[in-house]
Amino acid sequence: MSDPLHDAWRRCRQAIDDVAGPGRRVVLVAASKAQPLARVRALAAAGQRDFGENYVQEALARIAGCADLDLVWHFIGPLQSNKAREVARHFDWLHSLDRASLLDPLDRHRPAASGPLQVLVQVNIDGEAGKAGCAPQDVAALADAVAARPHLRLRGLMAIPRPDPDPARRRAAFAAMAALFAELRTRHPEADTLSMGMSEDWPLAVAEGATLVRIGSALFGPRPAKAAAAPD
Ligand SMILES: *Cc1c(COP(=O)(O)O)cnc(C)c1O
Repeated sequence: MSDPLHDAWRRCRQAIDDVAGPGRRVVLVAASKAQPLARVRALAAAGQRDFGENYVQEALARIAGCADLDLVWHFIGPLQSNKAREVARHFDWLHSLDRASLLDPLDRHRPAASGPLQVLVQVNIDGEAGKAGCAPQDVAALADAVAARPHLRLRGLMAIPRPDPDPARRRAAFAAMAALFAELRTRHPEADTLSMGMSEDWPLAVAEGATLVRIGSALFGPRPAKAAAAPD
């Protein structure tokens, strides 16, 4: 029997591999915010391992509900300081480090037994007012500060470019991220991850060098309204 979620996952994984081309494996993170636990478990059963979450409390219920599975959890939403401890304790990756004040709580609360938290610096690549992410000119200092922490490991950069209707402008934002990533790698060769691209724009992101894409609605279908989602 064919399961629509498994089919969507297989199609998505194949499409990413096709755009990436031979010999290049782009990591697929399933953005599971607002999805019922059963959907996450069903996708894991299909073979998906990496899941991305935006809201800490909501995520903790799903992480606990999947404790018997060997999954990798990515925190991809904006991080409030008072949630840094829970992210350090329960997640494998943080994509949204955008200020130095998070470093102390993250480093202090990371359990030694979990190994270092894998960290991406989020960049506000379009310079949009009020948007998460550090300015491009602040990436180097923030990356150095991450790399200096014993319980954090610098892995690269993340961005959510403005959903510009003009594909050329979107592509330019991804290309600007790729250039920042190349520059970062001259200082930190261990940085191997460029997280960019979502359901609407991942092919452009992969074409410009994304090593990881975060995809929600193209996998799960339209997100359930928050009130209709499983209680967290
Ligand atoms: C929700 C979300 C995604 C996935 O969005 P879709 O458009 O549903 O693919 C990716 N990244 C972040 C940070 C998100 O919040």
